[in-house]
Formats: sequence, structure tokens, C-alpha cells
Amino acid sequence: MASKNINTFKDVVCPFCGTLCDDLEVDVVDNQVIEVRNGCQIGTKKFFSSNPSPHRYMKPLIKDGDSYKEISWDEAIDKTAEILTKAKRPLLYGFSSTETEAQGKGVELAELLGGILDNTASVCHGPSILAEQDVGVPTSTLGEYKNRADLVIFWGSNPVHAHPRHLGRYSDYIRGYFRKDGRHDRYIVVIDPRNTHTAQIADLHLQVNPDEDYELLNAIRAALRGVELDAKEISGVQTKDIMELVNRLKTCKFGVIFFGMGLTQTMAHHRNIDAAICLTRELNDYTKFLITPMRGHYNVTGANTVFTWNTGYPYSIDFSKGYPRYNPGEFSSCDVLINDEIDASLIIASDPASNFPVASVKNMFKHPLISIEPHETPTSAFADIILPPAIAGIECEGTAYRMDHVPIMLRKVKEAPGDCLTDLEIIERLIEKVKEKKGEK
Ligand code: SF4
Repeated sequence: MASKNINTFKDVVCPFCGTLCDDLEVDVVDNQVIEVRNGCQIGTKKFFSSNPSPHRYMKPLIKDGDSYKEISWDEAIDKTAEILTKAKRPLLYGFSSTETEAQGKGVELAELLGGILDNTASVCHGPSILAEQDVGVPTSTLGEYKNRADLVIFWGSNPVHAHPRHLGRYSDYIRGYFRKDGRHDRYIVVIDPRNTHTAQIADLHLQVNPDEDYELLNAIRAALRGVELDAKEISGVQTKDIMELVNRLKTCKFGVIFFGMGLTQTMAHHRNIDAAICLTRELNDYTKFLITPMRGHYNVTGANTVFTWNTGYPYSIDFSKGYPRYNPGEFSSCDVLINDEIDASLIIASDPASNFPVASVKNMFKHPLISIEPHETPTSAFADIILPPAIAGIECEGTAYRMDHVPIMLRKVKEAPGDCLTDLEIIERLIEKVKEKKGEK
């Protein structure tokens, strides 16, 4: 039997989480991924999910009674543009699992439509951005942490499950230039109400009470300033453990706080991050200390960056007055959907039906819904029109921003199946068609 022709791609970037590991090796035979090396389980799975399957969309579809029928791209673009042009207040949401060039075109389309433009930060690290806008942020790159950090705090984040290779590449086991002994040269602290798998491999786990991070952060700040804490316990943590932690923070050589949605989406939200950033800044009176959010979607950092360089604002943007206005809580997707202010939605590279509140999802489903999505999801299953994209970072190139704002070029390892177009091509065609319908061409 003739041996199969295996195409091996090296230094492939994983387009799954904000760690953007860039050392994967992918074997492709007959345009199918057959092997992925170096990836974690979730990243590897994404590469295999690009192969044709009953769950992969390969042609544009339109709702036809209780099922869907295939239509041409010309028809799909025309009908989508018709819906969006007729809508008084369309929502364009998602953008965090696609590349920056498509994100930029998304901004252009939202402006043209006078719609609401939002990305997934509005339900994950939006509070981190609000805090950074208030108090700034002392931060650095993952490479610096790898080479220098001897004290690492994971606050409200569980990288063992959410960013599995972060620990092995940057923050825990990895040997760095000044941390030659890897894990033995670092002291790992986890602050989390749950006994997570990351907590189980940490040197110290402080099991803070749910929703009491703000109190704990400020107790640490007070102790750092020399205030005597007279309570025996604060936010479920023994005062003696707080004092021991403060001592370690002050005496480490280089510390970093990595924080996740356990801090951004619990009580106090952006005030938690505000306090964490202030603590980081205050620790620099004693040693070097920095802070970095653990971003989830692989290019949510890019979405915030691209939206900002185009409009001045990172998310929750309203174009209804013809210029961008920014007001999270008023123009955030969840809020405009709950208040039923939206009369059509274009969802790209995300799945709000899986994680938005029921009331907002119900309202989204009430109005025309277009989904640009490679696989069947709870959102796409209710869409009126489904536009199938090539998967960025697997089936087309592009740029993505790692969680520390380092831009990385995504690679292409195979062709998209069926008639898929790239996200960029789809949005460009929509822009042209919307302009035509508005008489701007
Ligand atoms: S840690 Fe994230 S970027 Fe790295 S391989 Fe896993 S999913 Fe992909």
C-alpha cells in the first residue's frame, strides 16, 4: 500500500486561548488534520474540529421552516445585507475568535450600519479594561515573567483547565534565564474560593470567601502599609496567612499577579481589578511587581486593541449617532438585548446563547439572527442565516494578540472545506452589499 503524503507544519500558533502557544506541529494528509504535537487537549481538539464533520458548516444556509436549505454566497450576502440595512439598531457581537484584519472590517461594517459593536470582553475582562482606564496598569510580557518571576499569584483563575500550557511555557514549570530551576525557583500562590487543580499544585492556597476578594485585596494593601489587622480572619482567610503572604510579596525578587474571571466577574467587578492594580503598584515600593489578565478567547485582546485604534473604545460601542459612543452597561450586548433595544443581530466567532442570561438570549432569538460560525452552536442552531467561515489560524492566516498584547502571525495549515470564505472576505462582501443597498456605491 502506498504511504500517504504527510504535510508537517512546524511553529504553528494555536488559535484557542489567549496563551497563543506558537510551537505546535501539525500533520495534514489529504487536507485533514491527522496529528497535533505540543498542543494541550483543548487546543488539539480545535485543529481536529476543522476536519469535515456533521457539525461543520460548509455552505451558506437559510432557515426553511424547521430546517435549513443551502443557498449561494451571492444570495446569502444579499439577504444578510438586507436584514442589517433594514434594522434600526443591529448588534454586531463576538469578534474574539477571529483575526485582527476581520475585526477591523467589523468596525467598518458597524459604523456603516449605525449599529452596536461589541466583543466578548463585555462578559469577561471588560472590568479589567475599565480599571486600567481608571488607574493604569503596570504590566509586561509573558517572556519577562518566564525569565524573572519568582513569585506568581493566580487570583480567580484556573490555568490547569483554562490555559493548560501557560504553566509549562511561562509561569510555573518552565526554566527561565534567571529561574534556572523552573518550578523550584518559584513560589506559586492561588487565591480562589474553590480548591481547583491549580490550587492543588500551588505552594499556598488562600480560600477566599466567594465575592469577598475586594475586602481581601484591601486587607493586603492595609497590611502592606503597616496597618495592624485586628480581625482574626478576613474574607475567610486567617490574618496570620495574610501577614505571611504580605511578607513574601515584599521580599520576592519579581512578582506577578495573573487574574481571571473569578476576580472580574465577582462582586465589585472592576473595583476588584482597580484594587489589584493598586496593590501591584504599591508593591513596587518594595520590589518589582506586575499584573496581567488571563484572557480567554485567543484574540479577545486583539478585539479590544483593534476596536480601540479604530474608535477610541475597546468594547460596548454605539454608532447610532454616526460617531462612536462608549458606555459599558448601556451599550453592552447583554444590556441592549435584555432591554430589547436590538432588532437584528450579526454574531461572529462567538456563542452568546451559551453564556448570556436567558432573558437576553430570548430577545436575540426574537429578531433576525445571522451567525458567522464554522460549527453548530446553541447560537447558530437558532440563526436565520448561517455563513460558514474558514477557521482563522488553521485555514487562513491573520494576526492575533496574545494576552500580554504581543501580536503573533497565525498560520494556515489546510484549506477550508466546502464553500467556506474567510471572516475577512465575508465582512468585506457584506460591506460592499450594504453600501450598494444604501445607495453609497
Ligand atoms: S494553552 Fe491555549 S494556546 Fe496553548 S495549546 Fe492550549 S489552548 Fe492552545
